[in-house]
Amino acid sequence: MFRIKTSIATLTLCTLLTAPAWGDAQSPIRLVIHGGAGTITKDTITPEQEKQYTEKLTEALNAGYAVLNKGGSSLEAVQKAINVMEDSPLFNAGKGAVFTHDGRNELDASIMDGKTRKAGAVAGVTTVKNPINAAYAVMTQSPHVLMVSTGADTFAKEQGLATVDPAYFKTDFRWQQLQNAIQKEKVLLDHDGKSAALFADPMMYDYKYGTVGAVALDKDGNLAAGTSTGGMTNKRYGRVGDSPIIGAGNYADNETVAVSATGSGEMFIRTLTAYNIAAQVKYRNTPLKDAAQNALDEVKALNGSGGVIVLDKAGNYTMSFNSEGMYRGTIGDDGKPVVAIYR
Ligand code: ASP
Repeated sequence: MFRIKTSIATLTLCTLLTAPAWGDAQSPIRLVIHGGAGTITKDTITPEQEKQYTEKLTEALNAGYAVLNKGGSSLEAVQKAINVMEDSPLFNAGKGAVFTHDGRNELDASIMDGKTRKAGAVAGVTTVKNPINAAYAVMTQSPHVLMVSTGADTFAKEQGLATVDPAYFKTDFRWQQLQNAIQKEKVLLDHDGKSAALFADPMMYDYKYGTVGAVALDKDGNLAAGTSTGGMTNKRYGRVGDSPIIGAGNYADNETVAVSATGSGEMFIRTLTAYNIAAQVKYRNTPLKDAAQNALDEVKALNGSGGVIVLDKAGNYTMSFNSEGMYRGTIGDDGKPVVAIYR
């Protein structure tokens, strides 16, 4: 009897010593990013470009990982990863954003906190250097979710965020893309004169997207999602796409998933892509890959294309797209970045 009691005591003591104390249990960490989807094949980019994209995506992954690895929040990791891509002319976000029909760069971004389901977004900003930081400021420093145009720029400046002359965003490559789009549109207009149809169908142009996004899971088990973009080449009349629309181009909820989308924004808005995926997980327990595929199938049914990155609280993730390629990558606890571009 005495012996049994001793062993039980020993066992209990051992269990107490080896089991993590409540609150110390750590979640796996994970960061998944995208740098846009579209007509991206081995034939459309040079080996030099491929190297540049691979290096920049790796840098973005490492920047986010540095935050997560030292116990930082998923919200900060998402911003840090996106900042790297916003500051690079390679992507259609921040520097290197596409041009509107009028030759301006109007940027959109959003961020969402999976723990609180708080969200912030800006649309049509022209002077804040890193729109994702402005979105974060809207979420944390205002009672609002979405601010647009000059009001959003003023707010960002008041918050002390870095601002730039609008010329900062300009790159020759994007300028040429605009000239090509205008030329193509002219040819189409001369041909059948159906201007309304043209404006209504952004897929008529050979868009290479380049929106950037990130989803992250931190050591506390909190999810976050962020998306940042210049929108679509040749866009008009204050057009805003899905990227700053919570539930369309971005969404995060600890109970389900974090999602960032890229592609033909109009169709992503019409099918509420990001929330569509979260809802499937929430109400039907659909596996992430299937939920993403179902959502992209709905986009495709409206003649849209693009991709999504999706991450859940257990660290499961998918990087799915129905375009030819998507700049993408991920990093987890082992700290080894994995990057891919083609199908
Ligand atoms: N979804 C973005 C938009 O429609 C474009 C993109 O993903 O490249 O504004």
